[in-house]
Amino acid sequence: MTLTRDDLTDLERWGYDDGFLTLEEIAEARRRDQEDAVATGSRPASLPSHGLSERGRRQLAELAGTAALDGERPADRPRPAPEPGAARPASSGEARVAERFDADQVRAWLLELGRRVEPSDLAPELRAAAYAYLDGYRGDFEWMAEQRRRLERYQSLFDTSLKGVLNVWRADLLHEQRERERAVRLRTEAAASQADPAAVDVHAIPAGGYAVRKSQDVVTFYRVSHGELGTRWEGYSFLRQVIGGGRDRYLGRVGPGARYAGERRADLAAIAADLEGACRLYGQELGICGRCGQILTDPTSRALGMGPQCRRRPW
Ligand SMILES: [Zn+2]
Repeated sequence: MTLTRDDLTDLERWGYDDGFLTLEEIAEARRRDQEDAVATGSRPASLPSHGLSERGRRQLAELAGTAALDGERPADRPRPAPEPGAARPASSGEARVAERFDADQVRAWLLELGRRVEPSDLAPELRAAAYAYLDGYRGDFEWMAEQRRRLERYQSLFDTSLKGVLNVWRADLLHEQRERERAVRLRTEAAASQADPAAVDVHAIPAGGYAVRKSQDVVTFYRVSHGELGTRWEGYSFLRQVIGGGRDRYLGRVGPGARYAGERRADLAAIAADLEGACRLYGQELGICGRCGQILTDPTSRALGMGPQCRRRPW
């Protein structure tokens, strides 16, 4: 397999490295689709893009033993008509059956499986569950959309695809489970730190550089930043100690609703108690404005430890 990481977008995003479906399996399913299509006289699917780059799709096409790519469909070439009444050839793709299944049981099974779903796992009720999950899927994973289009076209999917659908389901369930666990952990941390009277609310410290004088000669420098809105780090604060030569020391992050109770809590309490003073000290000592990061060259700005615009901005 010569696909590189650069060729993977959607697949990689969905844990291709964990591998819910290998590229060989996609290629194999596609090859059988083509054979099936030729045998039944239906229009064969062109190779899927699967979010792959042009080069990736070409490699996938070679792997599948066909030069067909999107835009060059074998169906456009003349092809013998199917014999009347010819039976659809047997394949591993089970006809879509209205099998009963217990969604809760399938979910529990997927969560406890501890490995990827394999084609040998596919009992009739699991196939039915895979079809149902595909039907109700509202996510944005292009591979799933592709399976829906194939299902519309062929009325059934191969086990390799159904297995893939179940592995997408499993990945979704594991993701939801991790997010739930994360939420519980954050709540627990927040509750513990709220109960600590020495803990500091670092979320209230605006992003920027601050300094604390430890003695006549010793000043410790800090940087506070906050997670971007709309990202998974929204509500987090990040603490660093500024050390020369770009070797800042990461002191840790504080989750939403939590307070900082680490070993630098005295310094951070001092900063929180006098934001402007700590920020000016940073600027005076380093010659860099703690609020905007600009180098301070003007004598007044250096003396005050802050640039003119930042001095006017209210805290
Ligand atoms: Zn500034």
